[in-house]
Amino acid sequence: MRTVADMFAEMKMIADEEGYQFNPVQKDLDDIIQGIWNNEHRYGYPSCPCRMASGALADDMDIICPCNYMDADIAEYGCCLCTLYVNDDWISGKKSHDPVPERRPQEYYEKGYPAIMEQKGAGGKEMAQVYRCTVCGYLCARDEPPDLCPICRAKKERFEKFEAQERKNEQKGYQTRM
Ligand code: SF4
Repeated sequence: MRTVADMFAEMKMIADEEGYQFNPVQKDLDDIIQGIWNNEHRYGYPSCPCRMASGALADDMDIICPCNYMDADIAEYGCCLCTLYVNDDWISGKKSHDPVPERRPQEYYEKGYPAIMEQKGAGGKEMAQVYRCTVCGYLCARDEPPDLCPICRAKKERFEKFEAQERKNEQKGYQTRM
């Protein structure tokens, strides 16, 4: 049976490969990891412990850890919203440890992730690329697909580009099911 230690080991492998660092304060790290673990069991997927998930996978895909907003937050503030991932400037104190403002637009909380497919991507920029896991359908808006799917653990090679027309069809599908 998968344990919280297994989950963290997978996260660490991805972090090491992508050059991300975890919060060095063990108590904070443990609390955040536990929150992700709790969400995985509560919702069936590891959504961000600092955000309110809807409980519907399709609506929460952008806030499955590592979320779509992590890279932009680390670049600007030195850490992600939850301070799970941090950079050297944050660790050294060169970057202040002030709270990171929520980058996820409020409308995503109200309308869910499918609504953003035709709109702007993380950080208010045009969405550069969306990737889909061909095994489970997980979608993420990133420059590159993740090394491991956070939902089904499929490898990076199992991701494919998710094109604009597919986004429209997917959105229609979501709307039909709502
Ligand atoms: S802010 Fe993003 S990267 Fe940080 S813990 Fe939450 S989901 Fe994970």
